[in-house]
Amino acid sequence: MGESIDIFGLMVEEEEKRKKALREEVLGALGVPDFFKGGSIWIDARKCYGRECDMCVKACPTKAIFWRGGQLVVQEEICLFCTACVANCMVEGCIRVRRTRPDGTVEEFSSLREVATLLRSISGRKALEAVEKIFPSLGDFLSRFGPLRS
Ligand code: SF4
Ligand code: SF4
Repeated sequence: MGESIDIFGLMVEEEEKRKKALREEVLGALGVPDFFKGGSIWIDARKCYGRECDMCVKACPTKAIFWRGGQLVVQEEICLFCTACVANCMVEGCIRVRRTRPDGTVEEFSSLREVATLLRSISGRKALEAVEKIFPSLGDFLSRFGPLRS
């Protein structure tokens, strides 16, 4: 008997490849270096103050976080895992960012206090400076990537 094929596994793998390619394309076009080997971001909708707050959306340098149908969503392909949204959220544990550094170190942030600790490190400051450099023109550029959010 031949080996069974893991269709679900193959689909997940393909989806990961698609996301990676899109991420490389978009961030490459923006001229934004990908600081981390990988990352994830979660939002706890039960803790969120809602649209009246909007602090995380305003803070995001790539507009990766936005409102859809009354819910915050994140377009992970353009998320830099920079933690600006975490640093600007008043609610501890509402947004959680986990990322892997090029050396394999895994970091996790879910409060301003944790982000502030990071910013005291030289590498953290460098990352923030790089993001700030590209910020002024991102709105115009990302408007051309509207279909990403559909
Ligand atoms: S981690 Fe940075 S890029 Fe990602 S959603 Fe938060 S502010 Fe935006
Ligand atoms: S900053 Fe925090 S509380 Fe405010 S909208 Fe964003 S996730 Fe919700």
